[in-house]
Amino acid sequence: DPQLNANYTFDNYIEGDCNRLARSAGYAVAAKPGGTSFNPLMIYGGVGLGKTHLAQAIGNEIKRNMPDKLVIYVSCEKFCQQFVDSLKNNTINDFVNFYQAMDVIIMDDVHNFAGKEKTQDIFFHIFNHLHQMGKQVILTSDKPPKDLAGLEERLLSRFKWGLSADLQIPDLETRIAILKKKMYADGIELPAEVIEYVAHNIDNNVRELEGAMVSLLAQSTLNKKDIDLALAKQMLKNFIKNTSKEISMEYIQKLVCEYFEVPVDMVKSQTRKREIVQARQISMYLSKSHTKSSLKTIGAFFGGRDHSTVIYACQTVEDLIETDKKFKIYVNDIQKKLKMS
Ligand code: ADP
Ligand code: MG
Repeated sequence: DPQLNANYTFDNYIEGDCNRLARSAGYAVAAKPGGTSFNPLMIYGGVGLGKTHLAQAIGNEIKRNMPDKLVIYVSCEKFCQQFVDSLKNNTINDFVNFYQAMDVIIMDDVHNFAGKEKTQDIFFHIFNHLHQMGKQVILTSDKPPKDLAGLEERLLSRFKWGLSADLQIPDLETRIAILKKKMYADGIELPAEVIEYVAHNIDNNVRELEGAMVSLLAQSTLNKKDIDLALAKQMLKNFIKNTSKEISMEYIQKLVCEYFEVPVDMVKSQTRKREIVQARQISMYLSKSHTKSSLKTIGAFFGGRDHSTVIYACQTVEDLIETDKKFKIYVNDIQKKLKMS
């Protein structure tokens, strides 16, 4: 199947909270195409989050286990084009027969059906035929079925039959794992802090994440192990828009709360719960050392407190850094993350 790209496999599709449901549903479908209730399986999510990779991985896995199965991968755009061509060439029967003979159809980016009523009609019939025959349909889309504007209701209702599973932006840990896997595959080694820097700063899209890494490697004539953090920052200046961004209290608050796994708005509340107080005091301390804000502004930001509270917080943090090893590590960790940005 020339349409399947052998590079997209389950093996190199990193699992994380961001994709757990979609990935495991995809795996189930690959083991038993047409034989699960996940028919169609609809994978949806934003640009560059791994829809095509996962959809292709399902197709490749099916071919690996069941080489006789007819699996077709087609982008919605290409399908639409083929349909128009078949109209022009009077080969519409061939077109329909080709798709109806498949055991598995993977159609990528079905949001592109919007506005194309005739192609939707044809696909509606192909879908029904395949579904009735117990064949597997796999779809990807940039939105969940309920938000797909411009698609006919009857087609949408079919899309809702099986399972819709979304892909989210991977968390930091998963982004690091993706980069590591990618480098490992290419036989490249980079210092951990460089990988972390890239993963930290590119947090919207896996394609860009990989792009940054590729750009870094392309620019470098050095032994990759010699790329240090400073050099990486320099090389990625254009890639990472916020390199010279001023650190804000908002950002400090976000980092600290993420680190201690406390809800962001709690820091500004009146609560005296130990872990919240700790997060609040560290946030104040870091705001004093990493922003130009006055004590008064810092106090006001963290829940309308006065400047003496900020002084007290900073003193407390400094004391604890001296006396409590664990606490020192916490603050250092967060500071490191701040410097990454
Ligand atoms: P989409 O189709 O959603 O726009 P792609 O499937 O093209 O996204 O993914 C973009 C890039 O990110 C691809 O190179 C893909 O291999 C990679 N990618 C996305 N998610 C993962 C993941 N979980 N593990 C490994 N690579 C991933
Ligand atoms: Mg895609």
